[in-house]
Amino acid sequence: MSIAIYPGTFDPITKGHVDIVTRAARLFDRVVVAVAESARKTPAFNLEQRIEWCKLALSDHANILVETLTGLSVDFARRHQATILLRGLRAVADFEYELQIAAMNRHLAPELETVFLAPAEQYSFISSTIVREIISIGGDVSAFVPAAVVAAMRQR
Ligand code: ADP
Repeated sequence: MSIAIYPGTFDPITKGHVDIVTRAARLFDRVVVAVAESARKTPAFNLEQRIEWCKLALSDHANILVETLTGLSVDFARRHQATILLRGLRAVADFEYELQIAAMNRHLAPELETVFLAPAEQYSFISSTIVREIISIGGDVSAFVPAAVVAAMRQR
């Protein structure tokens, strides 16, 4: 059984993340979205909120799970018997950072393979950072964030 983990902050989950994880769900038997506390990044939305929104966005897919990521991604992967670590690549700008993390993770866990997927073109410019900025000035993020999540955000 092929199991992939998709670690990230998801602050908040965007259509870009959903695109990546649904592509992976067609390639692997199971994908575990691993939502990190990322305290160092001081996320705008708390962990429970980010997890709830990931679950809302991905509820249609039986082989996608959403869990809290505590500790290192490599340890999380081992606990879940995952052999694939999934990351998204939007543009060249992501490349250097992602390659560095992949190299570090390979050093820590040689058995875990990092796999990069590229999103559909229309999602390649979306970032959680820009979404947060739009939200903070009261703008409409429905083009960038899954509809179920936008509805939940409006209720809040
Ligand atoms: P992190 O804090 O680990 O960078 P993010 O939640 O920002 O977590 O991103 C998780 C992963 O999703 C990263 O590999 C990132 O490059 C990727 N990603 C983010 N936005 C997009 C997007 N619009 N399209 C494809 N991949 C994306």
